[in-house]
Amino acid sequence: MSEYDVIVVGAGFSGAVLAERFAKIHDKKVLVLEQRSHVAGNCYDYKTEHGVTVHHYGPHLFHTNNEEVWQYLSQFTKWTPYEHKVLGSIDGNLVPIPFNLNTLDALYPKEQAQQIEALLIEQYGVDGKVPILELRKSSHVLLQQLGELVYQKFFVNYTSKQWGCSPEEISPAVTARVPVVISRDDRYFHDKYQAIPSEGYTQLITNILNHSNISVHLDTDATKLVALNMNDQRLFFNGQAFNGKLVFTGMLDELFDYLDGELPYRSLQFDFETLAQAQYQAATTVNYPNEHAYTRITEFKHILNQPTTHSTIVKEYPQDYDRFDPAKNVPYYPIFNQANQERFEQYKQRVQAFENVITAGRLADYKYYNMDDAVGNALKIFNRFTEQGAA
Ligand code: FAD
Ligand code: UDP
Repeated sequence: MSEYDVIVVGAGFSGAVLAERFAKIHDKKVLVLEQRSHVAGNCYDYKTEHGVTVHHYGPHLFHTNNEEVWQYLSQFTKWTPYEHKVLGSIDGNLVPIPFNLNTLDALYPKEQAQQIEALLIEQYGVDGKVPILELRKSSHVLLQQLGELVYQKFFVNYTSKQWGCSPEEISPAVTARVPVVISRDDRYFHDKYQAIPSEGYTQLITNILNHSNISVHLDTDATKLVALNMNDQRLFFNGQAFNGKLVFTGMLDELFDYLDGELPYRSLQFDFETLAQAQYQAATTVNYPNEHAYTRITEFKHILNQPTTHSTIVKEYPQDYDRFDPAKNVPYYPIFNQANQERFEQYKQRVQAFENVITAGRLADYKYYNMDDAVGNALKIFNRFTEQGAA
């Protein structure tokens, strides 16, 4: 092991960016361990035999306002511009999501829609955004009624499927990701940069990891190799003391063998279908808040505008995470509530006792990071580390 200075666990965005930074900027020899048979973490994509780029762990649409992240990633990929649009199946019609002034027009008689539009603009301003839980509490009776309608038709059943609970029982930040928008902008995201890596996320992350100082070992569960001695805060790798750094982007409860109990996650089952038809639906994603056991259907060929004769779609069925069940053992979404946060903090304190361990990513930070958050956070961690002269 003396040949490596840094061991990185996980080859998703977080692990790849930190591996690249240590290899390039600090000239460290880096070993990346990934338990899956591929790099790119949950952003892994591949092309089907019919030429459709499919996202294996659900649709991934890149968007960011973070200039540093955009510039950093642009070293490793060309981009294909793409602005995500989502339709919702509501009372048998397909209407734009997030709920905006066009959705209002589709669901209300003309005069009433105009009256509500004027009120929304007065209250929240042109181009304003308001989380559904806030709109529902509006003191204005018409806006409160609108909030109730949007809550009932768009949020309550979708959230119940996605999280197994009501919108009030999860962090308000979750439903605030999809606010009511006071404009006629039908885009799902409003960030400055919105684009897809032209050769896919797998190629982008392969490019990030493509450095002579980096070795990647796939199909390797690091928790079987890495040990943290809690008596003397020493690190061990493969039974031997390891004096380098460990960058860990997996689950903290797993790292500590569930000492303080399990950190709960929500999982998903993806049901892929390849159809002998050029197109299945009008938009990349159609949400089904009130029908079916799945939450949404995504048709991938729209993303890179691929002119294929066959089309691949995926239906997302939310489910509880269960580490012992191979059909449910991918931890997609941390579940935020106070008890879980407190448990996470216990693990965080344990890991902070180890000077040579850096944690990063959606799993290790137990946060609902988008891709740009994961990259931005990894860059921030590395920069802080460098500034502290801890190289
Ligand atoms: P991950 O991608 O989860 O990577 C962690 C890696 O560590 C994994 O490959 C895992 O196998 C590996 N690992 C864990 N434990 C071990 C171990 N013990 N040994 C070895 N390897 C280990 N973000 C967006 O910006 N836009 C979107 O449209 C979007 N859509 C999403 C849709 C879904 C369904 C989901 C679940 C997420 C979506 N995201 C989206 C979020 C995005 O997936 C994450 O921000 C990103 O993957 C975080 O990267 P990461 O490296 O932190 O984690
Ligand atoms: N949501 C909803 N109805 C929708 C879309 C979203 O209730 O039509 C809620 C739901 O709780 C979801 C959250 O808003 O988990 C965030 O949605 P987003 O599309 O950001 O979820 P992700 O793509 O991360 O799964």
